[in-house]
Amino acid sequence: MNEIKENILFLKEKVLKACVKANRSPEEVRILLATKTVSLDRIAMALENDMNIVGENKVQEFLSKYEGFISLPHPPEMHFIGHLQTNKVKDICNKIDLLHSLDRVSLLKELDKRLQKKLNVLVQVNTSNEASKYGLHPDEVLSFMKEALTYKSIEIKGFMTLAELANDKEVSRRCFSKLRSIKEKAENSFGLKFPELSMGMSSDFEVAIEEGATMIRVGTSVFGQRQYPDSYYWPS
Ligand SMILES: *Cc1c(COP(=O)(O)O)cnc(C)c1O
Repeated sequence: MNEIKENILFLKEKVLKACVKANRSPEEVRILLATKTVSLDRIAMALENDMNIVGENKVQEFLSKYEGFISLPHPPEMHFIGHLQTNKVKDICNKIDLLHSLDRVSLLKELDKRLQKKLNVLVQVNTSNEASKYGLHPDEVLSFMKEALTYKSIEIKGFMTLAELANDKEVSRRCFSKLRSIKEKAENSFGLKFPELSMGMSSDFEVAIEEGATMIRVGTSVFGQRQYPDSYYWPS
């Protein structure tokens, strides 16, 4: 059995355990493969093992893999999970299935200008209070959404966050539970459903599942350590 297949089986077992612990059905939790720095053939190997969502962080890297993704026998859902610069919106907005990082009005406007069909999006929230993280401050979310909901070109499906990177699971838990409470507040305020909670990575997906994640984003637990530090992908 190859290593990727083995990792996926192990991951699924852990997801199942977390679901059982949280009294949830594993069907409620989808697994997104965070595929930054991973070559197409290794991604294809994961997709052959019952995975079907890929997420890229950088526009250039997404574009370099795009033709490969759509040529696969079963093309994956393609998500964008990184910070999206306004001037790069036009390069990807009509190619992706879900944007996880809607976090400002200027991005909203540019998307509206460039989209040729409705795009599903998640509102990214900075739940950790770290200045280095992208995403809306929790207090700004409702007023941002009030504006975003007027744009017919986008469909808000839910929320995304990156938890504080800490070894303490309870610190991550606070971030995830904050995101869930923001979701509930938004649903009550607008009388709409925003079902998706994209939260949890290799190091903290179990607590994310306990706090209601509907999509976890995992890279290293499937593909192994990356050769670039995360600071290359995230602001520091
Ligand atoms: C890389 C990345 C992940 C996955 O991180 P791992 O620790 O490799 O599981 C999740 N979300 C985002 C936004 C990422 O950039």
